[in-house]
Amino acid sequence: MKKLFYLLCFLHLQTFVFAQTNLFITNPIVDKVLKGQYNPDDFKQGTVIKDKQSIVNGLFNKVSNDSFMSYLVQLSSFYNRNTSSDTVSEFTGIGAARRWAYHKFQTFSQLQQNRLQVSYFQFDQVIGGMPQHRNILAVLPGSDTSDKSLVIVEAHIDSRCEGVNDTSCIANGMEDNGSGTGLVLELARVMSAYTFKRSIVFMLLIGEEQGLNGSTAFALYCKNNSIPIRAVQNNDIVGGIICGKTASPPGCPGENNIDSINVRIFSAGTNLSAPKSLARFLKLEYQEELMPLLPVKPIINIMNAEDRTGRGGDHIPFRQQGYSSVRMTSANEHGDANPIPTYTDRQHSVRDILGKDINHDGVIDSFYVDMDYLKRNTLINGNSIAMAANGPDMADIDLINDGNGLTVKVNKAKQYDHYRIGFRTHSNDFDTLINIDHSLELKTYHVRKDSIYYVSIASVDAEGIESIFSTEKFVKVLGVPAAGIKTDPANEKAIQLFAAYPNPADETTTISVIVNRPVDHKEAYILLTDINGKETGRLKMELRQHINEVIYEHGFHAKGIIFCSLIIDGRIFDTGKLVFR
Ligand SMILES: [Zn+2]
Repeated sequence: MKKLFYLLCFLHLQTFVFAQTNLFITNPIVDKVLKGQYNPDDFKQGTVIKDKQSIVNGLFNKVSNDSFMSYLVQLSSFYNRNTSSDTVSEFTGIGAARRWAYHKFQTFSQLQQNRLQVSYFQFDQVIGGMPQHRNILAVLPGSDTSDKSLVIVEAHIDSRCEGVNDTSCIANGMEDNGSGTGLVLELARVMSAYTFKRSIVFMLLIGEEQGLNGSTAFALYCKNNSIPIRAVQNNDIVGGIICGKTASPPGCPGENNIDSINVRIFSAGTNLSAPKSLARFLKLEYQEELMPLLPVKPIINIMNAEDRTGRGGDHIPFRQQGYSSVRMTSANEHGDANPIPTYTDRQHSVRDILGKDINHDGVIDSFYVDMDYLKRNTLINGNSIAMAANGPDMADIDLINDGNGLTVKVNKAKQYDHYRIGFRTHSNDFDTLINIDHSLELKTYHVRKDSIYYVSIASVDAEGIESIFSTEKFVKVLGVPAAGIKTDPANEKAIQLFAAYPNPADETTTISVIVNRPVDHKEAYILLTDINGKETGRLKMELRQHINEVIYEHGFHAKGIIFCSLIIDGRIFDTGKLVFR
C-alpha cells in the first residue's frame, strides 16, 4: 500500500513538473528582446521622450475612458472567452479574442514607428480538453541593454461562468477580467509613445481560471532562460465599484454601496519580503508622482496576504519562480470563486456582463465597470511601471546595532544622487522615509526601546526617480541602557515571538518568530487560544535562524483577544496576544 502511495505521489509530481511543455515565443524578434539579445538602436524613437514629467503627464492626458469602452464592448462580443472555447470562429470564442488583441497591439505599434513588438507565447498543456494555448504579449524594447531585466504588466484575458470549462454559456467576463485586459491594452497604446531604459512587457494571459496556467508557463520560460524581472504587476478585477454580497473590506459597507476610492494590492510575505517592497514602491510612486494630478485620489491598501483567502492570481507563479510580483484588485470585488446555488453576485457567472439597459431602449446605460475607476487604476499601474522601467539600480544596506543605537550603512555599486531609507514597525506601510547621502546614524533619532525596525533602501537618480526598495533587513533595538552601559546582545533570548507584526489589519495577520541562535527541536507550532483558554487553531512553523513567518487567516470580522503561544516540542516557549477591535 505504502509503495503505491509513493508511486502516486511521484506520478502527481511528474504531472505537476511537466504541466506546461514546449514553451515557445512565436515571434523570434520578441524572443531575442526578452532575452536582452538586441540592438536598442533598432527600436529607437525619432524624437526620444523619456523624462519623468512628460511620461506621467502623458499617461494622465492620454489614458482614455473611450478606449476602455471600445475594448470592453469588443471583448463582450466574443461571448465566451473560456480557455478551451472556440478557436476557429471569426467572431466568438477565445481564438477570435486572441487574434483581436494581437491585432490591437500591432495597430498601437504602427502608430509608434513599429517599436512595440508583438507575439504569442505558446505552450502545450491539456486544459478543458484542448492541448495547446497562447498568451498574447507586446514588448517595448528598452534603450539600455546593460540591465536586461524586464518590467511586466499583465492581466488574464480568459473568462468563465459557473462551470469552469463551460464553453457555451455567456462568459463575457467584464469585471473578471475585461477590466484588467483593457488596462493592459491601454497602457501598451499610451506607453509605447515613450522610451524606457528597461524593456516593458504588456501581457494578456490564458488559462487563469483553470489554474494560473498561462502565467505559470511564462514564469517558467523566464526562469529557464535566466531572464531577470524587476517587477510583475498583475491586474485582475480592477473596474468594479458596486459592492456585491460577497465583497470584503476595505470599503463596501453593504451590498450595492459604491466605493470608487479604495483599491487593494496583494503580495507575498510580510517582513523581509521583496514582493511587499514592490507593493510599497507602487504605492509611494503613486503618492508622490501621480496623486497630485488626480482630481479624485484613490487609497491604495497594501494587503497582508498574497491573495484573498483560498484564492489566487497570476502574480503567484512569478513569485514561485523567485520574482517580485503583486496583484491589484478592486476593493469591491463582486464575487466568489465557487458560486453556490443561491449565489447572486456577478463574478464567475453569466451575469459578469458590461451593464444593464435600464430604460429598455436597446442600449446599455448602466455599467458594471466604472470607466473612471478603471482609468485611475490604469494610471497607478502605468506610473509605477514607468518608474520601475526607468529608475536606477537598487542598493542595499547593513544595519549596525552596537547596543547604543542604530547605524544604517549604504552598500551600492554606483554612486547616485541620494538614497531613501524606509523604516517600518507595525504596519505594511512605511512609518518614515528619510533621505541620506551615504550613511546615517540613528542613535538620536526615533529609535524606541524593545522595538523591531524593518529597514529598506532605494537609490534616487538625478531626475528624482527612485529604484524599487531593497528587501528589508531588520534590527531589534533592546532596552535603552543607562548612560555609559552597553546592552549585551548575548543576553538576548534564543527565540523571540512577535505576535502582531504587522498589527491585525485585514483578513490575515503575520506571526513572526525570530531565531537568534539555533535551537535543536523536532516540532514547532503556534497554538491559538481564546480568552477562556480554548484552542482555536494550530499553525505549523519552521524555525530557521533569522526570521520565520506564519500567516494566521482570521477573516475580516475577527473580534476580541486571541493568544498565540509558540510551542516547541510540546513546551510553551512564549505567548503573545492579538487584539481585534
Ligand atoms: Zn480573474
